[in-house]
Amino acid sequence: RPAPGSLLTLTDMGKRFGGLQAVAELDLSVDRGQIHAIIGPNGAGKSTLANLVTGVYKPSSGQVTFAGNDLTGQAPHSVSRAGIARTFQTPQLFHDATVRDNVLAGFADTGRTPLWAAALKPPSRYRRDAEMRVESDRLLALVGLEDVPDVRASELPYGKQRALEIARALAGGPELIVLDEPAAGLLATETSGLGDLLMSLRDQGYALVVVEHHMDLVSRIADQVTCMDQGRLLARGTPQEVLSDERVIAAYLGK
Ligand code: ADP
Ligand code: MG
Repeated sequence: RPAPGSLLTLTDMGKRFGGLQAVAELDLSVDRGQIHAIIGPNGAGKSTLANLVTGVYKPSSGQVTFAGNDLTGQAPHSVSRAGIARTFQTPQLFHDATVRDNVLAGFADTGRTPLWAAALKPPSRYRRDAEMRVESDRLLALVGLEDVPDVRASELPYGKQRALEIARALAGGPELIVLDEPAAGLLATETSGLGDLLMSLRDQGYALVVVEHHMDLVSRIADQVTCMDQGRLLARGTPQEVLSDERVIAAYLGK
C-alpha cells in the first residue's frame, strides 16, 4: 500500500533484455510536489526505468502503482491517460508547426484521436477548440513562451524547444512528468532557466522524475536522488548525501 502522499510507487521493478538485467529489484516512491532525480553512469538503467514507468517497456518483474491504480504492463497511451507524461532526450516536436500548435497536439496525445484526425473536426468541437487555445496560451506562459506562439518550433533556440516540449507534456493534464536528461545539449544559462521551470512546476504540485547527468542541476533542484548502477539501487537520499557518497563517486570514476 503506497505511503500517504505517495503518487508513484515502483516495487521490486526488474527488466531483462535477453541475458542482460537492465533494471533489478528497484523500489522507488515519488510524492506530489517532489522532484526525484535519477542519476548513475552510462548504462546504469536510467532510461530503461523511465521506459518502465511510462509503459514503453513491460517489466519482467515488479509493480507500478500510480495514484492508487496498478499500471503494471499498461500501454503508453493508458499510462499517459492515467496522468504520467514524458519528455525525451531529443525533443520530439513537430518542427514545421507553430509553438502553439505543438502544445495543441499535446491535448490530442492523451486521447485516442490521432493528431491529424483533429483537422477533420465537426462544428461541435469549435467551443472545445477555443477552450484548448486558452489553455495552451496559459501553458505557454507557464514555460515562458507566451511571446512566441506563432513562431515555428524549429526556429526556437534549443533551450526553448525543451520548454515547449514540457508545455506539450503539460497539455495532457499529467500529475507526474518523467524527463529523460532535460539538460542535455543546453547552454549554462538555459540549464539554469530549466531548473527554475522545473522547480516552479514542483511548487505547483506536479511530481517530477528527472533522469539527469548534470550534477549542478540535480543538487539545485532535487528533493530526493536515486543513484543507479548496473540496474540496481546504489544510493538514495538528499543531493548532498548521494553526491558525497563514496560508492557513487567510485561508480562515476569507474566508467
Ligand atoms: P542509461 O539510460 O542509464 O544510460 P539504459 O537504461 O539506456 O541506461 O541501458 C541500460 C542497459 O540496458 C544497457 O546495457 C543497455 O545497453 C541495455 N538496453 C537498454 N535498452 C535495451 C533494449 N531495448 N534492448 C536491449 N538492451 C537494452
Ligand atoms: Mg539514458
